[in-house]
Amino acid sequence: MCGIVGYVGERAALPILLGSLQRIEYRGYDSCGILVQDNASGEVHLYKGLEPIASLIQNLDVSQFPGTIGIGHTRWATHGIPSKRNAHPHMDCKGEIAVVHNGIIENFQSLKDRFLSSCQFRSETDTEVIPHLIEKALMKAMKAHTHHKDFSPLSYSYSHSHSQSLTADEWLLKEAIRESLSYLAGSYAIIVAVKGFDGLIAARKESPLIIGLGDRENFIASDVPAVLEQTNRVIYLEEGDLAVVKKDRIYIENGAVEVTGRRGASMIPWTIEDAEKGGYEHFMLKEIHEEPKAIIDTLRGYLTEDGINLGIEIRSNIKILMVACGTSYYAALCGKYIIEHLAGIPVRVELASEFNYSDFVLGDDVTVIAITQSGETADTLTALKKAKRFGCRTVAITNVLGSSATRIADDTIYIRAGPEIGVAATKSFIAQLIILYLLGFYLAMKPEHEFEEWIEELKRMPQLAQMVLDDADAEIRQYARYLAGFEDVFFVGRGVNLPVAFEGALKLKEISYIHAEGYAAGELKHGPFALLTQDTPVVAILSGGSDGDSSIYEKTLGNIKEIKARGAPVIVITVKSDDEVEKYVDAVIHVPDTRDIFSPIPTTVALHLLAYWTARTRGCEIDKPRNLAKSVTVE
Ligand code: GLU
Repeated sequence: MCGIVGYVGERAALPILLGSLQRIEYRGYDSCGILVQDNASGEVHLYKGLEPIASLIQNLDVSQFPGTIGIGHTRWATHGIPSKRNAHPHMDCKGEIAVVHNGIIENFQSLKDRFLSSCQFRSETDTEVIPHLIEKALMKAMKAHTHHKDFSPLSYSYSHSHSQSLTADEWLLKEAIRESLSYLAGSYAIIVAVKGFDGLIAARKESPLIIGLGDRENFIASDVPAVLEQTNRVIYLEEGDLAVVKKDRIYIENGAVEVTGRRGASMIPWTIEDAEKGGYEHFMLKEIHEEPKAIIDTLRGYLTEDGINLGIEIRSNIKILMVACGTSYYAALCGKYIIEHLAGIPVRVELASEFNYSDFVLGDDVTVIAITQSGETADTLTALKKAKRFGCRTVAITNVLGSSATRIADDTIYIRAGPEIGVAATKSFIAQLIILYLLGFYLAMKPEHEFEEWIEELKRMPQLAQMVLDDADAEIRQYARYLAGFEDVFFVGRGVNLPVAFEGALKLKEISYIHAEGYAAGELKHGPFALLTQDTPVVAILSGGSDGDSSIYEKTLGNIKEIKARGAPVIVITVKSDDEVEKYVDAVIHVPDTRDIFSPIPTTVALHLLAYWTARTRGCEIDKPRNLAKSVTVE
């Protein structure tokens, strides 16, 4: 989720690795680690900590960390709290194979149970299975080819080479790593260092990885900015690639097929600042484009072949209260619709800041679910503590492992959206919704096959989000340029898309400074109609109807006609593939059709883009809107 780096060359590795880690520090991390290998002396030097990279730069010295090969990591914990022992690199039992990893190994527990029960694990991470698997695979390969009892990768000498470009030792090592990776379910970008070996091995699956090319030295990193200070010649590794990287030679294969020649180097034209944003103008835009990935990562591990496993126990016949603030509050409101629809359990939703200082009385049969991206939102933490005083069971839904919310709540469900830098929440909102769908299915307590079609549809959400990014962006930009000329905008929706209208309005006001209000489509006539003129455009979410209940569609369409009759310009976002609505409104943004309950996903992606492009037209400072902070740690 965060960053990995590697260096192999002739210079001291330590300052290069630390410099690279510092370049990707902006992405946020909870702990870090570094390993430098000195093949001259045969020594390996390891450091793990929770402090900023800057203090490592100040405190670690090349004289204590000599060596020209090394790997480093900044961690965004997904399994195991942020701590020294959970920081990477992780090692095999003998301390000879070291691995840094970005991503999530979904089946780590079953691998531990099935194959690695004899290994000594030193952390709670999912990652640690990787070095142990490699050790096992290497031992097996060694036994197959020699009679050596003890494994020492470089004491082994193989009679003939299997590849023109790899030595026998390298071949054996990469085969062992390839075999180990074949056991892994999930996502990874990894770099492996092996004691005594004068190179590094890197591999990726659903997580980015690049090789920076130097002169008698090479760099490996999860992100371009990590290497830009050293080189702007970069090979982008592709899905499934495995690379043996030496200082003067690179071998790349995919599957069992060598593809070295097919992975050309690209010249990176970006400045370091551009590169941090992956070529996007703002973090917010980058993070909107990461929404499909946030969905995939959030589903990962919770939705397995065996069904939904959220890692928590919730009793049936419960009452649910959700507490949250800001965007998370709107996710909670969507959650109300979702859980009531899927599970038929009543859900109450309260703003944490209101809940805290009012006379709510809760029975101990209420489960309180607190949603907070950062896990540090002060209002939400206070609400969790209050719920505990009532004897309620508490669950935190958060993006930050080990955050305060996770320490207060009885249980935690992580959303795994990865670090979010833009102050305006985007991918974290989408990931929160995904957890709420899973929770809805889980609470329904029905046999999974009854939901089979629904779950299949949920799995399509990354694809639907991607379709909005690919197909609707151009028209959204066009309407954003139009909206940018107004000072008041209404967002309306019904049902599960009412909170999405709130979210659309919040996003627009946060970053474009346009006054925007989210309203129930049926409510405008009870007052706000008085404000409708040709200067108050209305963005209407037209959902419902595609799977049964067409009344929401019909009613919203009726409301849209009423709005239009009052002279307000109307832009409709519709998930329904009909051309009916076009007759009545000024503009239509089409997003892919899905079951109504899932329509918040494509609709939200469209609204996030709409807010972004509107703010951009107005020249606003999008990533850091005035007066706002990412993590609101005061009440
Ligand atoms: N899943 C791994 C862990 O929790 C890697 C996290 C990361 O990508 O930083 O340690």
